[in-house]
Amino acid sequence: MTEFHGQPLGTHIPDDLTIAQFILDAEHPIRAQRPAGAPWLIDDASGRKVGFEEIRTRTFGLANALSRRFNTREDDVVCIYSPNDVDYPPAVWATHRLGAIVSAANPGYTLEELVYQLEVAKASVIITHPVSVKVALGAAQRVGLPAERVVVFGSEPVSQCTTVDELVKEGLVHPPNFAERKLKKGEAKTKLAFLNFSSGTTGRPKAVMISHYGPIANVIQTAVHSEIHKTDKPWEERRFRPGDVSAAALPLYHIYGLVVVLHFMLFSGLSLVVVPKFNFKNFLDSIVKYRITHLCVVPPQVVLLCKQPIVKNYDLSHVRFINCGAAPLSGELMMKLASDFPKAHIGQGYGLTESATTLSMFSTETKFGVINSSGRLLPGVTARVVRPDGTSAGRNETGELWVKAPSLALGYLNNEKATKETFGEGWLRTGDEVRIDDKNEVFIVDRIKELIKVRGFQVAPAELEGTLLMHPDIQDACVVPVADDYSGEVPLAFVVLRPEATARVAKSPSEREKLKETIIKHTAENKVAYKRLAGGVEFIDAIPKNPSGKILRRVLRERVKEMWSKPKAKL
Ligand code: AMP
Repeated sequence: MTEFHGQPLGTHIPDDLTIAQFILDAEHPIRAQRPAGAPWLIDDASGRKVGFEEIRTRTFGLANALSRRFNTREDDVVCIYSPNDVDYPPAVWATHRLGAIVSAANPGYTLEELVYQLEVAKASVIITHPVSVKVALGAAQRVGLPAERVVVFGSEPVSQCTTVDELVKEGLVHPPNFAERKLKKGEAKTKLAFLNFSSGTTGRPKAVMISHYGPIANVIQTAVHSEIHKTDKPWEERRFRPGDVSAAALPLYHIYGLVVVLHFMLFSGLSLVVVPKFNFKNFLDSIVKYRITHLCVVPPQVVLLCKQPIVKNYDLSHVRFINCGAAPLSGELMMKLASDFPKAHIGQGYGLTESATTLSMFSTETKFGVINSSGRLLPGVTARVVRPDGTSAGRNETGELWVKAPSLALGYLNNEKATKETFGEGWLRTGDEVRIDDKNEVFIVDRIKELIKVRGFQVAPAELEGTLLMHPDIQDACVVPVADDYSGEVPLAFVVLRPEATARVAKSPSEREKLKETIIKHTAENKVAYKRLAGGVEFIDAIPKNPSGKILRRVLRERVKEMWSKPKAKL
């Protein structure tokens, strides 16, 4: 069996710490080099700076109040349904101090989507934000959570909900109501820290069980890969220097923002500018205002950086690091970025929620990553490239990427079948088709799994198909990706109409277009914006299936590629 090994890790990964203890309590020589007064977090809008001691204090206060008010304790689940906020990290770590689990949700989720997550994760408290409080209250009611258990970030009471600020104050005036959970040796490997949602290779979104050890391991792997411990390197060659400033514009509810931006950057001694909602002009303003040196981005943000004329009005020459992940970045964009930011280290990282997070990242050997490579295997990662017949492919041959790594999640909550299929025998089957070269550079060739990635966000076809089937005119449906210049991919639905509807649209082209619009509206009403059927709706006589009834998605995906290579009028 051919295996590919990242560099040996060569360092210990603590297996008896929670993530909060690892970040807030453990000694870190790198972090200690942070210049005096450099904040941990900066609120983008107000410029408020939050230092280490204040974060620790707020984390304790919030943990104490959660314990007093809601009796939050070991293995309870706290759902954070919010855009980024300076109190988001303390909310995560307060939950961890109690031995409880964080399940983060996209604040754009509709009521139905949030209800689904609350039910699967069995959350008992919701921490939300003024922008999403209404939906949070509605969802809480639907799942039988009292409204008192919905808390909002900030200090202004909204819809009569308690604020996080109020809780922090309450927690700080009362004696500790909880004993911090200490882990036994090895326990961090099985103790759950997060339930993040991912559809994996097939089906609806599932709760991915992420241990404390997984993200800690990944932070250390990324740090070793990035040579942040090599403090004897010339200052100008160091990719991460304590005192550097990173944008935290990626959402913290997604694993990329959560592990790479929040935990890795703080571990490496950087300050984070916390951006609640991405707006390109504000983003550019903030890069200049806070002298942001490090950017973690997704491909559509690279499109903006490369193509928006407004960028020329800004001096961004202090930017020294741009990592693009969550979806493929084209070679052309990578080259344009490299020519626009000649001083910066630029390349791709690749990972999954199920591998919490990074499996490969551009190497420190050169300033720019290899074109079209999603990076070099991280230290501690072992990979196989598996052909459809189950045999192992060699170097430079293609097949599905299977990995073993210390950061792997433990499986899907209450879903043994999917866990076995994806995590069987200690290997994570990524569902990505890759080729690995002589230097362990990983080139993603295709995605085998049905997942669609819109601007880096997951869209599970099965979920949209479920919604489509609720429409009275629809008999069957299959959702596939269509390439899109900005979003990378967008979903398109092939729809089989019921006979009455088929007869109706056969008579009138305008009726046909109207029904397509209605179907697009129907999904848009039920789903967060990026799941919209931006690729459109195509009527079809039958969804191709194999004899056992399984949808042959590949047939339709190929058909889309063919359709899109011709003028749209021929559809
Ligand atoms: P998620 O769990 O949302 O992070 O999605 C993981 C999936 O995103 C991977 O299995 C890949 O299909 C895709 N992905 C992540 N990073 C990259 C990358 N650099 N290039 C291509 N696809 C990527």
